[in-house]
Amino acid sequence: MIHGSLASVESVSWQNLLAGSITDPAVLLRRLELDPTLLAPARAAAADFSLRVPEPYIARMKRGDPNDPLLRQVLPVGEELFDQPGYVIDPLGEQHANAQPGIIHKYAGRLLLIVSAGCAVNCRYCFRRHFPYDDNALSTAEWQQALDYIRQDSSLSEVIYSGGDPLAANDRRLAWLTREIADIPHIRRLRVHTRLPVVIPQRVTSSLIEALCSTRLPVTMVLHCNHANELDADLAKAIQTLRNAGVTLLNQAVLLRGVNDRLEDQLALSEGLGDHGVLPYYLHVLDHVKGAQHFHVNDEQAARLVGRMLTRLPGYLVPRLVREVAGEASKVPLAISPLNG
Ligand SMILES: *Cc1c(COP(=O)(O)O)cnc(C)c1O
Ligand code: SF4
Repeated sequence: MIHGSLASVESVSWQNLLAGSITDPAVLLRRLELDPTLLAPARAAAADFSLRVPEPYIARMKRGDPNDPLLRQVLPVGEELFDQPGYVIDPLGEQHANAQPGIIHKYAGRLLLIVSAGCAVNCRYCFRRHFPYDDNALSTAEWQQALDYIRQDSSLSEVIYSGGDPLAANDRRLAWLTREIADIPHIRRLRVHTRLPVVIPQRVTSSLIEALCSTRLPVTMVLHCNHANELDADLAKAIQTLRNAGVTLLNQAVLLRGVNDRLEDQLALSEGLGDHGVLPYYLHVLDHVKGAQHFHVNDEQAARLVGRMLTRLPGYLVPRLVREVAGEASKVPLAISPLNG
């Protein structure tokens, strides 16, 4: 009843789209009719962190434009190989917050469950650059231990499916996990942090809805959309399906130089999300991860940008500008400068 018809969106399976992702820079450059001189640096940078981009995402890029904001998020470039002091492999010190396999418990009341280490897309700015694509599934015993950890800590009220990308896991596992978690009385909410529906909207099927939305737990999905050009008709349809199923939709973006650092980019993103009933939640300043320094936007620029957004948008379409700081009890909000716009 709640699923609606998705015939055209579901005509190619998401599994096939995921498996058919482009991983060869030469293929991507040819497809987009780009200058072949981009190939050598792309190959060099891809040796460190491979290219991975699914077809439905490429379809939203402009041909012949090396500065396309979607392309820039996925194309390996020579600047990634420069070393810059202060940019490190594990900027968030996540190794230490790893309470046990599959769990990151840093903040009160909620924890991240690493449902799948795989991602559908390799984002060049990501601090998880070192994760392998392979679905590093926990063993059955490890899953039970992770669930026991949640059962035993009654201060927890929310479980957040994370990764990698949790929606790279199959629906059977998601359904099982969600049932197990819903059986834990102190858990009141389920959250899913995912970029998968953005790059492969076909991931949102009636079977996914069933896996996530068949228990007593209210579901919030935090999408990761960085640019208005990502909001195409297929994604709009996927979002509508999620909303019809009662999922609360939020978005988190990363502020990236050359991708979404101009006021008009951020206004278009917020307005576009608002058009589809998705609220901007967080705008993250870049983690200082090695290889991503060319995306850096300094704090003053970021503060000014969000300050100007406040003067142009309803308050609920202005995301919170935050930084993740190792050891802090929550994401750290940055002071914004509304009067200096
Ligand atoms: C961002 C994050 C959360 C969720 O934080 P909210 O402020 O509730 O969105 C939880 N755990 C970790 C480790 C996080 O990085
Ligand atoms: S989808 Fe998320 S976790 Fe995966 S590479 Fe992109 S930003 Fe990183």
